[in-house]
Amino acid sequence: MTDILVVAESDADVLSSATLEAITAARSLEGTIHVLLFGSSVDADEAAARVGAFGAEELHVAEHELLGDYGPEAWGQALALAIDDMEPDVVVACGTSKGNEVLAQAAARLDLPFVANCIDLPGELADSDDVVLTRVQWGGSLLEEASLSAETRIVSISHHAVEAESIDGPAATTDTFVPELHDTVARSLCVGREMAEAGVTLSTAPIVFGGGRGVGSADAFAPLEELASLMGGRVGCSRAVTNNGWRPHRDQVGQTGTRIAPELYVASGISGAIQHWVGAMASKKILAINTDPEANMVVKSDYFVQGDLHKVLPAVIDEIKSRRG
Ligand SMILES: Cc1cc2nc3c(=O)[nH]c(=O)nc-3n(C[C@H](O)[C@H](O)[C@H](O)COP(=O)(O)OP(=O)(O)OC[C@H]3O[C@@H](n4cnc5c(N)ncnc54)[C@H](O)[C@@H]3O)c2cc1C
Repeated sequence: MTDILVVAESDADVLSSATLEAITAARSLEGTIHVLLFGSSVDADEAAARVGAFGAEELHVAEHELLGDYGPEAWGQALALAIDDMEPDVVVACGTSKGNEVLAQAAARLDLPFVANCIDLPGELADSDDVVLTRVQWGGSLLEEASLSAETRIVSISHHAVEAESIDGPAATTDTFVPELHDTVARSLCVGREMAEAGVTLSTAPIVFGGGRGVGSADAFAPLEELASLMGGRVGCSRAVTNNGWRPHRDQVGQTGTRIAPELYVASGISGAIQHWVGAMASKKILAINTDPEANMVVKSDYFVQGDLHKVLPAVIDEIKSRRG
């Protein structure tokens, strides 16, 4: 039976949903899913229930004073020691920057290869030590085949490539793993954090109202702000907008901005250049509002309104308000 070790990701004391994506992806391999959680700041019982619901059978909590908050070297060394100890066949994390950093740290320490950002985990990964994997490169605009040959296969699954899906499994059994970490790993530890924004963020918003060059000015984003507030969403934008200084870079969607995965992306006055598209393509549905029916964003959209966004958006706001009374 294959043993799959999924690396849990947490931020401060919250287990990240990226972990659940990695467990969901790992279910495509036939085997026992173990999860390694770093530090004791996350409530272990809660984590065991959460990862169990997604199909994990065992939760191993790595405890050490240097694992209190994120530290790439501390997490990487703890993972390398866990791999030595547990001898899993496959090690999986979600391909977030943190997930990839930790896997790279562990792989380098163990002198093992690592394939990042795979689009799926093929069944052969479980039972063959020689497998071909497809992974995304260049922000998603290139698919590459990578051949992996190793007794312990270390891979990450591209963020948002799979949707986390619960199977309502029972809570995972829990045990503690105490790694002997070297003092030198303490040189890169997270020692404090400041939330740039609270509540719904661009990457977690269920609905994003994106505006592009077609919006025309900073002030003309007011209807998008109003829609976001009416619908509980966030405003995003293209790089043409940030280049013009109409919106801050934190609102930018794309290769050099944020990857979004909302239920609905409303893209107004955005042409859909490849660098923008790679940040938007994980959206479940896309509604494009554009004067050009041949714009790339329109061609790729699920719904399209052809027209001037300065007329369409106020009309949508009026309609929502009148329906709500
Ligand atoms: C290395 C690199 C990285 C990049 N990274 C990013 C990135 O992360 N994110 C990103 O967005 N871009 C990125 N870009 C830039 C990208 O190539 C495009 O230039 C940019 O996305 C274009 O923005 P846009 O769609 O708003 O503007 P345009 O391409 O100019 O499109 C404007 C659209 O608005 C429509 N329009 C105009 N007026 C109206 C109106 N009144 N009503 C309705 N529609 C209207 C037009 O028909 C057109 O489709 C990057 C480029 C490079 C080289």
